[in-house]
Amino acid sequence: PKYQSVALIVGVTGIVGNSLAEILPLSDTPGGPWKVYGLARRPRPQWNADHPIEYIQCDISDPDETLTKLSNLQDVTHLFYVTWAHGSTESENCEINGKMFKNVLDAVIPNSPNLQHVSLQTGRKHYLGPFELYGKVAHDPPFHEDLPRLDAPNFYYTLEDILFKSVEQKEGLTWSIHRPGTIFGFSPYSVMNIIGALCVYATICKHEGVPFKFPGTKEAWDHYSDVSDADLIAEQHIWAAVEPYAKNEAFNISNGDVFKWKHFWTVLAEQFEVENGGFDGGGEKMRMVEMMKDKGEVWDEIVREKGLLGTKLEEVAQWWFVDMILGGECMLDTMNKSKEHGFLGFRNSRSSLISWIDKMKGYKIVA
Ligand code: NAD
Repeated sequence: PKYQSVALIVGVTGIVGNSLAEILPLSDTPGGPWKVYGLARRPRPQWNADHPIEYIQCDISDPDETLTKLSNLQDVTHLFYVTWAHGSTESENCEINGKMFKNVLDAVIPNSPNLQHVSLQTGRKHYLGPFELYGKVAHDPPFHEDLPRLDAPNFYYTLEDILFKSVEQKEGLTWSIHRPGTIFGFSPYSVMNIIGALCVYATICKHEGVPFKFPGTKEAWDHYSDVSDADLIAEQHIWAAVEPYAKNEAFNISNGDVFKWKHFWTVLAEQFEVENGGFDGGGEKMRMVEMMKDKGEVWDEIVREKGLLGTKLEEVAQWWFVDMILGGECMLDTMNKSKEHGFLGFRNSRSSLISWIDKMKGYKIVA
């Protein structure tokens, strides 16, 4: 056959979906040559259009539409699930995300006779607990995959349980689970994109001629943090899809180094040629949600003036997420299990930061 494997990426315009869409079609990708289907809710954006994939626009929260659009993809061998929807409470998260995942599995498993593997992305909140209980229920870090589930609602547990039940329907169908921390990647459509939001913030500071101040806490500024590069996460998904030793296991995925935000703040300020306002210990903690709430029109003006790709501020920057990530000390994971199973991938987080900033500028999302 022309293709050895056929991927379906659910969430192809997301922060990891976009990396999978770029890497899977490459000629030297393990398991290839890959034919790739990529699904997302909205029409295909320009910045995703270079990837040689078949784009499917589908709302997976609608079971009928999902069945109609996915049941005729009978050649799929590998499913990569890299999406989620943000509810207002964790129980809502469990409900809507459970339905979306089930709609996809119910459409694909019975109709794709060659399906071999389902790769599910969740995250470090598996060990931290849901956003609404941040700092209250977390395990003691560094987090490893064998820790028991927390006694708190968590849509990641809902997704895992649906996965475990669904794969039983088909003899030999395998799975893997991938748990990144904060992701460094590229997607103007992501629900959570820290680099995207910080690039937009720096662009606004530069435009207004004000210093680029760190909006987080002293802990986040001074202590060690780590992140997960989107291309590295994609590489781990692909590794688990083809490597027999990785089947039916959950894996943490982080870059393998640590950094301090105070050092990366200098990098960001340099990349955007804006005055580094640093960390201001006096007074109350800055809240990005407050600081940026009236900046929609300023953003429209910047987009016009600099000839950027037309985006809305609320699309490209999620201020609540910046407040969350920079609001406290980062709790680290360990990559031991992943390495012991044979995945030795890593990233230099500083290079990762600079390369995603370059991509943001290259696609004219920021200037
Ligand atoms: P994302 O928000 O970047 O992308 C979501 C993708 O799914 C987009 O392509 C979007 O169009 C699509 N989508 C959303 N709703 C849809 C629907 N109803 N029908 C069809 N497509 C739909 O996704 P992500 O951040 O990679 O999230 C995947 C998992 O990773 C989630 O469980 C998330 O919690 C976890 N995670 C994310 C981060 C992060 O920093 N972004 C960090 C750790 C864990």
